[in-house]
Amino acid sequence: MSTGDGAYIKKLNRSIILQRIIEYGMISRADLSKITGLNKATISVQVADLLEDELIYETRQEHHGVGRRPIMLSINSKAAYVLGIDLDYKVIHYSLSNLLGYPVQSESMEIDTENYEEIVQILKNKIQFYDQEFNSSKYGLVSVIIGVHGTVNKDEHIYFVPKYQWHHKNLKEDLEKELDIPISIENNANLSAYAERVYKHQESDNLLTIILSSGIGAGMMLEGELQKGYHGYAGEMGHMILSPGGEICSCGNKGCWERYNSEPSFFERLSAKMGGTRITYEELEELLNAGNETVVNQMEQFLFHLSIGLNNIINLYNPETIVLNSKVLQCTPNVVNKVESNLNSSVSQYKEIVLSDLGDDACVMGACALAIKKFLKVPKLLLEYSEEHYLNEVKEAKSAL
Ligand SMILES: [Zn+2]
Repeated sequence: MSTGDGAYIKKLNRSIILQRIIEYGMISRADLSKITGLNKATISVQVADLLEDELIYETRQEHHGVGRRPIMLSINSKAAYVLGIDLDYKVIHYSLSNLLGYPVQSESMEIDTENYEEIVQILKNKIQFYDQEFNSSKYGLVSVIIGVHGTVNKDEHIYFVPKYQWHHKNLKEDLEKELDIPISIENNANLSAYAERVYKHQESDNLLTIILSSGIGAGMMLEGELQKGYHGYAGEMGHMILSPGGEICSCGNKGCWERYNSEPSFFERLSAKMGGTRITYEELEELLNAGNETVVNQMEQFLFHLSIGLNNIINLYNPETIVLNSKVLQCTPNVVNKVESNLNSSVSQYKEIVLSDLGDDACVMGACALAIKKFLKVPKLLLEYSEEHYLNEVKEAKSAL
């Protein structure tokens, strides 16, 4: 075996050991050896390296039996930090997390510009702020991943962001030339799919998330891996043609799915039926619960189109889990049953359809998780959806008051 192979195997063993320590939370050297199939000497050498690198730490397990308490190993979650950014239209969400994916700080910032250079400057300043804030930890801020609501190619170049009308931007390079931190750019729906898998649907190797927001985005995890297609643009399901010759879409075609199932399209149609009145999500929920005929009918139409789109996707992918991420659907009682009752084809098969619990946080959570995976170089990452995530939502809600 060449030295190159030896170094490769060493790295591989290290990544497998780290993955298992994260998965178990606390684990002894003996159990690591059993689970990984690596011999005790290899475990011992690797663990010594990881301890020296301060990526893990040792504790004594509490137990009431006789005999020595075994030494347990855990991830040193404060050794490094990662930053996830959701670059949405006119608002940027930031979430800084530790190595176990717990959010340490999060904030949302409204911006009143669409200018690319100005937004690069805003991002740069914020990343520098977090970098300085956490530079006393062992590795500091080690990775930043930015989710953009548009097409991103395999080299992480932005091809097109419809809302901002940005074409061919190299945001990664524009930030990295001024910052000494690795930056990655990814499509927001891909990051959301990754978050659903890492935090919520850990058993599901074939997961699709459909995000109904200003348009329709889809992220796909197939056989446990993100699927991006030849250029990296796969998942633009909002531009499937649902109604030939139908409504004109911003992409240049007619009758695209997102003309019928984006949230603005729902509210526009409803408003037209209600004499121009615009309603909030809270009002929508109240009206649906009260059985308001106009609103209920409009929602049925919305779910009818949604079911057609889902029927087509199910036939393409035979998914295990479909996660619907949508505020409009969250407002609708019994919505999953209603959608499923429309899916009557004896051909289209899937395991489950669920609503997303992560909602608007999915993108930043996926960004943080992917950044952790890159930094630790683990083949597979599963993280706990913790109390801290809920607390964070509460904090944010309070600060918004
Ligand atoms: Zn279109």
